[in-house]
Amino acid sequence: GSSWAAVPMGPPDAILGLVEAFKADTDPRKVNLSVGAYRDGEGKPWVLPSVRKAEERVMAKMMDKEYLPIVGDMAFVDCARKFALGKESKALAEKRVASVQTLSGTGSCRVIGDFYARFLGKGAAMYLPAPSWGNHANIFKDSGLEIKTYRYWNKQTNGLDLDGMLADLQAAPDGSAVLLHACAHNPTGVDPTPEQWKTICKALKARPGLSLFFDSAYQGFASGDAEADSFAVRYFVSEGVPIALAQSFAKNFGLYGERVGSLNVVCETAEEAERVLSQLKIIIRPMYSNPPAHGARIVGTVLSDPALETQWRSECKMMADRIIAMRTALHSEVLKAGSKKDWSHITSQIGMFCFTGLKPDQVARMTNEFHIYLTKDGRISMAGLNSKNVAYVASAMHECTK
Ligand code: PMP
Repeated sequence: GSSWAAVPMGPPDAILGLVEAFKADTDPRKVNLSVGAYRDGEGKPWVLPSVRKAEERVMAKMMDKEYLPIVGDMAFVDCARKFALGKESKALAEKRVASVQTLSGTGSCRVIGDFYARFLGKGAAMYLPAPSWGNHANIFKDSGLEIKTYRYWNKQTNGLDLDGMLADLQAAPDGSAVLLHACAHNPTGVDPTPEQWKTICKALKARPGLSLFFDSAYQGFASGDAEADSFAVRYFVSEGVPIALAQSFAKNFGLYGERVGSLNVVCETAEEAERVLSQLKIIIRPMYSNPPAHGARIVGTVLSDPALETQWRSECKMMADRIIAMRTALHSEVLKAGSKKDWSHITSQIGMFCFTGLKPDQVARMTNEFHIYLTKDGRISMAGLNSKNVAYVASAMHECTK
């Protein structure tokens, strides 16, 4: 047999490794701001009542545990794409969207990564915003793509570097793929405005040689309004620009561990969509055969029942509103702690995260001296804050940035 004497110890995951360190910390003041998972005002995980209700309905049906098809639960997939593209979407009516259920957002990224590696070719470039969610580069590298970046975050303004972004995308060679965050950009919390999206769309429409991929992990979570949060995706599709779209239902439905997601490829014709779908199935079959049923049934139940969907909308808005309230609280507490710095980006950014601007040595102090866990890039999960810990976190941020 083989022995693994030569296998080196790998480094812990940049984000999930922090969870382990947090669990091992015995200081009562400890705060975990590393992972993007919603917490209620008491710091506890929250299962949305609309999701509980849907789950009870699913359970009451006593359904069998047969395999789903390779493409997953099509009732869910159809609800999911209407949720993203709009019930009146012309692309859906024309049947030119190839859609499959996936293992949440991560799995969706991986499937499109493998699709690009097959049909753009191994080593094709995948352009990610700088910075992007830490796992993006790993996913697309493992798919066989070459990671490139385009300018996105402007350090000077803590805002969007639109000119840099447009210049870099204009310079990307044909045959490349480009990843765009649909809303609530992770980790910066900085999104283009609708006007800026129109400018970006116009520039990319003029580059049909680029394959565009929207990663939508926070629809509803950014503004509290799922329709507003789908502006960019719907605008590109309405402009006739072919895109691929990953959907995750981890955050907006609080279904993290159920791994509910989908991948949609908006094509030019129904016939093209059929060919693309056939290839997605060929990619999925040897990868994991077919996706899990339970979470998809829950989301499908919520989105196909108008009363439950209305309830979900108000619960999703509650989560978004609590996060927005915590931004205001963190901002005012940092000033109250005596900081003279400009912290206006705390309240101007949106979504789950705040990109604080803390430098790596300041982040290390936050963790070592104050037992506050955040990623090295200075990103904090706003959902980890509540009325009991926000003043403590704010004072630590002030101490570490004096
Ligand atoms: N894309 C982005 C931008 C994310 O922030 C996340 C979650 N952190 C994901 C995809 C995937 O998450 P999941 O696989 O849990 O849906």
